[in-house]
Amino acid sequence: MRWQTTIETAVSEAGIGLHSGLESRLWIRPAPADHGIVFYHRAKQVFIPAQVDHTQNLGYATRVGLGEAAVSTVEHLLSALNGLGIDNALIEIEGEEIPILDGSAIPFVELIDAAGIRKLDRPVTAIRMTRPIEVRDGEKWMRAEPAAVFSVDYRISFDNPIVGYQRYAGVIDPDVYRQAIAPARTFGFLKDVTYLKNQGLALGGSFTNCVVLDDRQVVSGELRFPDEFVRHKVLDLIGDLSLLEYPLIGAVTAHKAGHALHAALVRKILAHPECWEIVGGDVSGAFVMPYPLDVEATAALAM
Ligand SMILES: [Zn+2]
Repeated sequence: MRWQTTIETAVSEAGIGLHSGLESRLWIRPAPADHGIVFYHRAKQVFIPAQVDHTQNLGYATRVGLGEAAVSTVEHLLSALNGLGIDNALIEIEGEEIPILDGSAIPFVELIDAAGIRKLDRPVTAIRMTRPIEVRDGEKWMRAEPAAVFSVDYRISFDNPIVGYQRYAGVIDPDVYRQAIAPARTFGFLKDVTYLKNQGLALGGSFTNCVVLDDRQVVSGELRFPDEFVRHKVLDLIGDLSLLEYPLIGAVTAHKAGHALHAALVRKILAHPECWEIVGGDVSGAFVMPYPLDVEATAALAM
């Protein structure tokens, strides 16, 4: 079992939000052991733990909110933190949406690398699946089942000749995440652009932060992988699984899933403690410790 981690020093990045089109700035700050990943909405001065209970409006993106404060499109940043095994961090945001940057998790991986990773003096607590759990929505389904390590088997099927059927399957560790998952960018279809913009979505979308396709080809430039689309779905899944708050030891299969089903799986896992056990760490009995927000998160802010 590994030790908990945080980052060595605070790092910052700015850019526009994919959906709002508005500029925002974020700071990733070190945090103590057992703090978890917590957002801090600077203007409203509200701490929002990255927990599934504080997740809202799942559709095209994942949003966390508490009271009047909300932060949108958190999944690529959460994915980078989870993919690299960062257990504790305070994400301070000036604005309402995490910048989309190049549409992948690589800019966040580079930020974390620039900060450095610090080992803390407490072991990681993980959730190890002992029995399978499944969620289903029509033809979409997901399953988490017992396995020795975390692995993903993701399948997508789009009625589009470029995307079509794609599958990515394998064990995910920080090295695999860096090389094979983090570079995969978000994608969208040209025919959906007008609809999305009318819904107030994708207002910041462009060829520089999104792979855009029409019915015959990619119109925004070269792909980074022939199967970049399914790899991006894995990236999103790793971000959404961080809402479990603890690393998952088990095999996750996803068939035509998306943010809403990812969150449904997280909720179902948390609702069925008879299907998993806590390993490592020193949590005895009670699960989902309340964050000592006012004390520890504030201490982290001062770091
Ligand atoms: Zn995404």
